[in-house]
Amino acid sequence: MNKIVVIDEEKCIACGSCVELCPKKILYLDEKSGKCKVSDESKCDRLRGCVRACPVEAIKII
Ligand code: SF4
Ligand code: SF4
Repeated sequence: MNKIVVIDEEKCIACGSCVELCPKKILYLDEKSGKCKVSDESKCDRLRGCVRACPVEAIKII
């Protein structure tokens, strides 16, 4: 599967904004790493709501 949602875990501060906002519910906070992850990227609408919501520019849609 091609990469669609790219999360820079170094930048992510686990604020949860993108998780709450994502209309497809494919973003989640991983308890172990405390970072944002993506589940099923193929469901992504590519409208970049998460990109705009992230305060630290940790998400890219490619
Ligand atoms: S672009 Fe939209 S659907 Fe895709 S991960 Fe971001 S908020 Fe979710
Ligand atoms: S909005 Fe950005 S900083 Fe917050 S959880 Fe999502 S990727 Fe991490």
